[in-house]
This record gives sequence, C-alpha cells and structure tokens, in this order.
Amino acid sequence: MRLMFIDPPQRTPLSAQTLVLLASAWLAVLGNIALWRNLIQLPDLTGWQGVVFGVAFALIIASVLTALLALLAWRWTLKPAISFLLLCAGFSTHYMLSFGILVDTPMLVNVLHTDSREVSEQLSVGLALTVAALAGLPMVWLWRQAWASERWGHQALHNAGLCLVGLLVAVGTSLAVFQDFASLMRNHTQLRYQINPLNSVYAMLDLTLIPSELRGGPLHALGEDAHIDTRANKGADEQHPPLLVLVLGETARSQNFSLNGYPRLTNPLLAQENVVSFAQVTSCSTRTADSLPCMFSHLGREGFTQRQYESENLLDVLQRAGYAVLWIDNQSGCKGQCERVANVNTALLKVAGECEDGECRDTVMLTRIDEELAKLPAKQRARGTVVVMHQMGSHGPAYYKRTPAAFKKFQPECLDNSLSQCERQQVVNAYDNTIVFTDYFLSRLIGWLKAQEKNSTPAMLYVSDHGESLGENNLYLHGLPYALAPDVQKHVAMISWMSPSFERWSDVSTTCLRQQRDRALSHDHLFHSVLGVMAVQTRVYQAHNDLFVTCKSH
Ligand SMILES: [Zn+2]
Repeated sequence: MRLMFIDPPQRTPLSAQTLVLLASAWLAVLGNIALWRNLIQLPDLTGWQGVVFGVAFALIIASVLTALLALLAWRWTLKPAISFLLLCAGFSTHYMLSFGILVDTPMLVNVLHTDSREVSEQLSVGLALTVAALAGLPMVWLWRQAWASERWGHQALHNAGLCLVGLLVAVGTSLAVFQDFASLMRNHTQLRYQINPLNSVYAMLDLTLIPSELRGGPLHALGEDAHIDTRANKGADEQHPPLLVLVLGETARSQNFSLNGYPRLTNPLLAQENVVSFAQVTSCSTRTADSLPCMFSHLGREGFTQRQYESENLLDVLQRAGYAVLWIDNQSGCKGQCERVANVNTALLKVAGECEDGECRDTVMLTRIDEELAKLPAKQRARGTVVVMHQMGSHGPAYYKRTPAAFKKFQPECLDNSLSQCERQQVVNAYDNTIVFTDYFLSRLIGWLKAQEKNSTPAMLYVSDHGESLGENNLYLHGLPYALAPDVQKHVAMISWMSPSFERWSDVSTTCLRQQRDRALSHDHLFHSVLGVMAVQTRVYQAHNDLFVTCKSH
C-alpha cells in the first residue's frame, strides 16, 4: 500500500463580517445556556409565546454582540476580542450553572481581588469542561481561520455598516417583543446580570470608564473629639484595663447555629458559656469586600451605600480615644480597615501545626495573640485594648478544607468545589462542620479571655460578615445583589460574652441582653455599640444604634 499525501483543500478566507456573525450567534445561543435554563423555569413564559420570546431574546443578544464586535473587526483586534468574549461566557456559564451567581460590578471586583489560594479552590473538572466546550473549541477553530483583511477604508465602511445593522436589528426586535421584554426585566431584575458575555463587558466598563465620585479624594477624619469617659470606669484600674476581642466571622449564617434553634448541635461548647446569641441580625451586604468597610463605618447600611467620600472607621476612633488596637487577619486581608492600626497577617507567620499549604486554622490567632499584644505600646495598653480577629470561618466553596478531622461531626461531606455536583445534604454537612469548628474556636477564645482576667477586664463580640446559600432554590455561596439576595445570605450570627468584671466596668448586664436576643439588629449597630460599651465619647456616637445601651444599669 502506498501512502498518499493529499494537499489540504484550499480554504476560502472568511470575511470579517462572517466571523463576527458566527461568533455572535455562538455566544448568544450556547454562551447563554444558564440564562435559557433560568428563563424556562420562570412561570411568565409558557408555550409558543415563550418559544417566540426566547428566539427574540437570543436575536437581541446576538445583534448587540454583532454591533459591538463590528467595532473591533480589525486585523489585530478581531480574534483577540472574540476569544476574550468566549472566555468570559465560558467562565460565567460555569459559575452561573454551579452556584447561581450573577455577573455584576461588585462580582468583578471580587474576582479581581481573589488570591491564588481562593483560585485553586475554585478549580474543578466542571469548570475545565465548561470552558473547554464553550470557549476552547470555538477558539481553536477561530485561530485556524484565515480571514481576508480589506484595505483600511473598505474595512471601516463595512464595520460601520455591520454595526448599524446590528443595532437596527436589536432595536427592532426589542420593539416587537417590548411588552414581554419590559415586564420580564421589571419582574426579574436579576436577568440583566445573566446575559453573557454582555454582563462581563458592562461590569468592566462600569469599573473602568464610568466615573465614580468616590475614587480618589482625601480620607475624612472621624471622631476627632473621641476620648475615653473615665467616670464610667468602675472597677477597672491600670492593672485591669478593658480588653475587647471583636471576632469577624466569615460566611456564618444565623440559621445553622444551634444557639439560635438549629436542630443539629453545632454549638456544643458555646452552649456551656455565659454567652448571648443574637438571633435576628442582618448584614450590611452579601459580600466580604462591602460588608467589612460598612461594618466599621459610622454611617450604617443606607448611609454607607450612598456615601460621597471615604471616612476613617471604628478602629481609627478607638485608637484616637486612646486604646491600643490590633487586627489579626486569618483571611484574605482587612479590606482597607486596618491600615492605620497595628496589624498582622497569619499567612505570613507559617506557624507549625496551625498552617498548611498557605492556609492557617483560625486557632492560629490564639497561638499568636500574646506575642502580638506584647508589641503594642504600653501606654495605650494601660488604658485598654481592642483586638479584631478576622476568621477564615466558613469560607466556601471548599467548606471541608476549613475543618480538622476531629471536627467532622456530620458525614458525608461534599468534597467537590462545584457544590451543585454534591447532594445537598453533603454540602450542608460540610458547612455545619465549619460552624462546629467556629464554636470550638470561640470557646477557646473565651477560655483565653478568662485567663486574662488576672490583668485585664475582658469581653468578646462575634459577628459574621454575611450569610450563605446552601442550595436553597439552586443557589450556592453568597454575593447576590442585596435587594435580590435571599434571607440566608443576609441573616448572620452574632454572639457576645462578657466577664463579670467587664459587666461591672461597662455597666451592661448579660442577663438583660439575653432577654433582648430576638431584637431586630444589624451591622448598623456595630460601630456605635463598640464605642458605647468601650466608654468612648464622641459626637459621632449614636445611642439609638448602640445595642447595649438599653441594658446599662444606670
Ligand atoms: Zn465574607
């Protein structure tokens, strides 16, 4: 037998217009599988009317993409632009299908702030397959295509024409289905964040080109009159200054704490302590990056979202009043909140037995606390100390990585980063184990605080930054826009503990607090409650936002 060498068939080069149309069609139809799946589940669209609307919707997306790509149909830009949009659609589709996420500007900010450890936790077979199918395959085809570039003038004319046609089709189709389209968008505002890859493009433009009045500008000072009210000091002396540890929980939803009535025993150790678990606390945001600055702000949720400029925060005011302030971070950083106070990141410490693969157990903060406190200025420490401990807590999606084997009480656990691949109960098991570990961490912290009574007046306040979806309505993780987010993403755990000496010093009674545990509270209360309980006097303090004020005995 003879081997035959056959010349590859001569390919006719495609025109830029053909590439643009093919890419737009692929992106609109296949790049939006997640959107189509969600549309089918909506009760608004049924039967033939639903089908017609779906086709029209796809046509609108394709024609907008055509108009957009037509502007980029130049020799050096067309293939990179199409490839980029394919990748956006591929990644977004995976996260939309697996976790029910929406792609908006804060989500993009989150992605940009993700560290390498978080990235490795997100990687999964599902992600690789989705991106390979939706973006990899068409990219291989695309980069093998020769395309006929025209002379500059012709190309400009053709691009402008294609852009115009795209816009006309988009507008025309929208008008044809206007009634359905308008009511659908009004009733399901989340849909606008599900249109791939236009959601990513919009978020990128929003972040870069659309001006934000907040960017730049000087930081406004806060509480310049702050001072410690020495008349309030009862029983605390130079030898026993107040010591408050503020624990910033991560992704701890209120419902899964047995202290709040969860049927599984997730808080066996805290249940033995003299704690108060506040059962009705609402977070400021559904994302760490927004919640943290909001929690430390004096403005409260509404004021914070509408703020015109950036201000100093709770820690600045405490420090200005005269206290020693320390931030220990066991997570991805303090989101700008610890910049002007002493701070330490545990990931850099590499404490043996506590840290592995760049991640440390939350208990590492207890291993280091004495050493770090000793570094604070003695003069301030004599007045009192506030320590913030930023937990890794229940950070997802790899909940199972947060707990040592001894705390894996609920089995089997979901071991897949694509949570939707596991049975829901396994996801809940892995999550509940993280709460069991947080219970252990907090009870050990209370143990440490009790030991400090010999030379200080200790107390603890724990509050989580936001909640979590664990598969309810096919949603996972957190970060949905506040108005659309389910309650589980906003309903957070908050627990206080005071030593008897702290109760005397602050005049706040734990027994009274316990009677108020079902009060509606929120992150809005944090700033003013901490200032109030630490006897800081300043004009920015608001008594009506101080949760402790009604339990003061005088
Ligand atoms: Zn968080």
